[in-house]
Amino acid sequence: MNLRTITPEQKDDLAFLPEEAIAALQAGEEWEYQPDSIEGVDADLYYCDDCSTWHQVWYVYGLRLDADGNLNETLWSVDADGDWQFVDEYSYDQRRDDEQEYRAIRERWRQYAGWVITNRHDPVGEFTRHKMVKRSRTYTAHLVPTVAGVRVFRVRMLKGKYGTLSDFPVEVRHFLHADERGFLQEFASLEDARARAMNVKWWGRNNDRITFTIEREVEEADDASTVERAKTFLKEGV
Ligand SMILES: [Zn+2]
Repeated sequence: MNLRTITPEQKDDLAFLPEEAIAALQAGEEWEYQPDSIEGVDADLYYCDDCSTWHQVWYVYGLRLDADGNLNETLWSVDADGDWQFVDEYSYDQRRDDEQEYRAIRERWRQYAGWVITNRHDPVGEFTRHKMVKRSRTYTAHLVPTVAGVRVFRVRMLKGKYGTLSDFPVEVRHFLHADERGFLQEFASLEDARARAMNVKWWGRNNDRITFTIEREVEEADDASTVERAKTFLKEGV
């Protein structure tokens, strides 16, 4: 579409063009509007064969006026990492039909919702709700008395392999109130620990091993409610 040869009606349609564009047209210079935000843009999505999963993508439009007065629409894509890519450029009078685009995007979301229901998995996180769940883990610590105090000699999870304290999550060290070298900070001696330590079971030939369970709340995807939300989306057909 050449702005030098357009009809008065077409000119009216282009009233949104900023002054800089008109000035560039009159001066025979290039002008370009490059989009820089996806605010207010509906996410599109597609199934990626390379990753065997779905990715979200946003399409945004720009404008480019060349020195001869040709006005083009430019199409850019933005991925979930915020990487922008130029996709296409075509004459402004062949610009995309918004209504048709919108319907195509909704249709892809419906396909996606069907996939989420079948696979009980929501890779782009559209329907996912999280729930807090209690998870507990049982550890055993082998303690040794030293001149500097009681030290954690080694640790294992359930019947797993023994390792040093630093091989395990920091919550284990915190539970034991041990410093970074493995010394128990709350207890002066093994006897003291046996008398006062709570929520541990003592055992072993020298009665120097303790077994304890650490419970913590972790956030997990709630698959059942994810599937429900995907079903609601399909039902409402929005
Ligand atoms: Zn991919």
